Amino acid sequence: MLREMGSEETILIADGEPLGRETLKALLMFQGYRLEFAHNGPETLTKVIEIEPDLLLLDAMMPGIDGFEICERLRADPRVAEMPIIMVTSLDDDTARLHGLEVGVDDFITRPFDMAQLRARVRTITHLNRQRRLRTLELQSERDRTQAILEALGDGVIVTDMSGVIQYLNPAAVHLTGFHRAEARGKHWRLLQGAETGARLDEILEVVRTGQTWRGEVVSKRKDGAVYDAALTVAPLLASGTTDELIGFVSVLRDITPLKTAERAKDMFVSNVSHELRTPLSVITLIGDNLDKLYDRLNEDRRRKMIQDIQKHSQALDDLISDILALSRIDSRRMSPDQEQFDLAALVRDEADKLMPLVRERSHKLQFSVAKSVQVYGNISQIGQVIRNLLNNAIKYTLNKGRILCECVAFEKEEGQTDSLWPGFEQLPSGCWAAVKVTDNGIGIGEEHLPHLFERFYRVKAQQNIRGTGLGLAITRELVELHQGHIAVASAFGEGSTFAFYLPLIVAEER
Ligand code: ADP
Repeated sequence: MLREMGSEETILIADGEPLGRETLKALLMFQGYRLEFAHNGPETLTKVIEIEPDLLLLDAMMPGIDGFEICERLRADPRVAEMPIIMVTSLDDDTARLHGLEVGVDDFITRPFDMAQLRARVRTITHLNRQRRLRTLELQSERDRTQAILEALGDGVIVTDMSGVIQYLNPAAVHLTGFHRAEARGKHWRLLQGAETGARLDEILEVVRTGQTWRGEVVSKRKDGAVYDAALTVAPLLASGTTDELIGFVSVLRDITPLKTAERAKDMFVSNVSHELRTPLSVITLIGDNLDKLYDRLNEDRRRKMIQDIQKHSQALDDLISDILALSRIDSRRMSPDQEQFDLAALVRDEADKLMPLVRERSHKLQFSVAKSVQVYGNISQIGQVIRNLLNNAIKYTLNKGRILCECVAFEKEEGQTDSLWPGFEQLPSGCWAAVKVTDNGIGIGEEHLPHLFERFYRVKAQQNIRGTGLGLAITRELVELHQGHIAVASAFGEGSTFAFYLPLIVAEER
């Protein structure tokens, strides 16, 4: 970046002879310039860098380092390479002039000076230089501004030349693609893209070469091989001041992976839902049809059985619709916003009480080990549903005369503490927790199913004769997580299962 320029144009007069300096000073005084002086070669070099004059008036015969060498050195220094240099020579010194031109002198003035000519030359060259520097400054500050915007942008920006060779990546592009600037620069754009985009690249560039902007969605690959979805815009990069001279391409990449993932999950959910809804519905329709057609030919018992089947499947359909609605409410966070502090232990007892008829019907034994008061914060009906789902499953998936244990405690987990009796305890962050555990000695779950239990519509195949939607545990987990909680399972096939969930505990001081 160029230094701030003063308002006056500055001329550096470099001459080893006092007389030479005085003469030039007298001629240029009162012309509106700021005059600076250098007495020898080294001083000239230092002052040029220090004051960046608009013009250097350089005597060819400088003590220390002569004028030609000074000129050569300045032309090689990018900071001042463009500064105009007028060399002061003697009238008849053609060799010096030729040499001067070779080392990059812009113009010559000769002794003895013609006052009018000297002033005119100095004015023109100084003024031109001033204009050039101002333009450079403006351009530079515009460039700085653009650079700052690009660096701050959340979208990835990649600039390539006409042949697709990468010239620039902003930090967001580095983050998105996983390639460092140094790795990507100079390589072909293809480097940043996965197989799919690679194939489409030529097609995209063909469109952009005609001057149009290409917009679309692509699937790309990061450096580590991970695939991501991106919204891509590729626009032509035109030479400045032109409307059709294509010099490269500007690509803007936005990571839309979360959006796409949610979209895919929603599509899958919708297709699963319609499948799950259709199954009981087609059974109901079929039985209804048969009942209608064969009514007179069926005996009383048969008819009753068919009506009961219709009721059973209608009930299943009703369960399914309730679960789907519950899930969709959680998905859009529309579940009741009522939040309050409540006693989790009391809630566990209440929910268990409600299920007692079912427990008795199956001749199970339900035991409690529940602390006196375990305070948590949240939506009481949502947490009630969590407890209900876990107890219901324990009752459902345990053969008659089973044993179910329901525990509710409060505890503080210390850093690094482990406890194998509570599933998920190891992964739990340290701190104060309220916890509920439901243990049964039921049919248990094979190890291969455990990672999928909390997925939507996941049911263990061998247990499909037991009524269910495969949504209960998915809902349960979402509700627990909505409360900043955690849920986990431990089970062994044929031995029984243990589900536990943890919610942040409200400790006494906070109450
Ligand atoms: P469902 O409506 O099928 O009960 P859930 O999401 O509640 O759906 O449970 C998913 C699957 O997990 C069930 O189909 C069942 O196979 C298994 N499961 C859940 N709880 C238990 C349990 N306590 N014992 C054995 N298996 C269980």
